[in-house]
Amino acid sequence: MRYLTELSEKAFLEAARNVPYQQINSDLFPGIDLWIRRDDLIDPIISGNKAYKLLFNLLEARKQGNDTIVTCGGAWSNHIHATAAAGQRFGFKTIGIIRGERPPVPSAMLQDAERFGMELRFVSRSEYRRRNEPDFVGSLGLSGNDSWFVPEGGENAQGAQGVRLLGKTIAATSPVRFDECWLACGTGLTLGALASSLPKTTKAVGVAVLKAERSIAAAIVDWGGSLPSGSNPELITGGHCGGYGKVDESLIAFLDEVGQQTGVVLDQVYTGKVTKALGELCEQGDSKMGEGRRQRVLLLHTGGLQGARGHRPRRGGEGSR
Ligand SMILES: *Cc1c(COP(=O)(O)O)cnc(C)c1O
Repeated sequence: MRYLTELSEKAFLEAARNVPYQQINSDLFPGIDLWIRRDDLIDPIISGNKAYKLLFNLLEARKQGNDTIVTCGGAWSNHIHATAAAGQRFGFKTIGIIRGERPPVPSAMLQDAERFGMELRFVSRSEYRRRNEPDFVGSLGLSGNDSWFVPEGGENAQGAQGVRLLGKTIAATSPVRFDECWLACGTGLTLGALASSLPKTTKAVGVAVLKAERSIAAAIVDWGGSLPSGSNPELITGGHCGGYGKVDESLIAFLDEVGQQTGVVLDQVYTGKVTKALGELCEQGDSKMGEGRRQRVLLLHTGGLQGARGHRPRRGGEGSR
């Protein structure tokens, strides 16, 4: 695995093109030909889809002469972690607005973020609820001519532009023609932007990892998907195991089994849930295609492993995207 060392579209595209596709042979996914694209490996620290969402944000900040990135998230946010790491790597000051009181011992993720040089500002939950209002950053005294704001989870036009680069990279590098591309949905931006950039013959299927079908569906449409018309992209809403960050014994057992059979490590908040939903659908025999051909499915490993430290079986646990 190589480190991204240069902030440019060209260098990033090269890294994206080198992301491996791993063919999976496992009875946990009967009836399909399954491959995993390992975007968790695009960089050892700035990992998964968060790297794609950050690329054009950082390029735009640099273009506008902004040397500070301001963003927000919860205590286990993969986006906060990636932003802090990218800021350190590419020479931006970073400020993370974190939901809730500063705990006596910050989460492992927030400790990393501070080690990467991010300044953390803890705000009350009621203040945090205003995160999408235009004066949110200003009201905290953080807006300035030299700062670039990235919304929670990297959900903005630059984030979508980065995900479309992922879609085009998949189109250009796939080892076989995939019928479906599966991924975990938090905000829904990644699914929407992928649906608009994958080859038309590849259906994008997202599994919601939280109970927020309406807002996810809206984000999918906002960022390029066209959900109401029907089947591509498709959003599966029954795979969240009770809500965001919640886990149950069967999810943990399944992920252990996947790890043993394939060597692929998955996190419990995002990639674990999409993988389990896919396994269950295969068990039901739904995803066989006609003409005697096994459906070819690409599963995106969108990262999140640095957050896996946080989740022991935490029922009712609270994470954050
Ligand atoms: C943030 C995240 C997602 C969800 O991406 P959205 O664009 O918010 O839907 C999926 N997987 C991982 C590992 C993530 O960190």
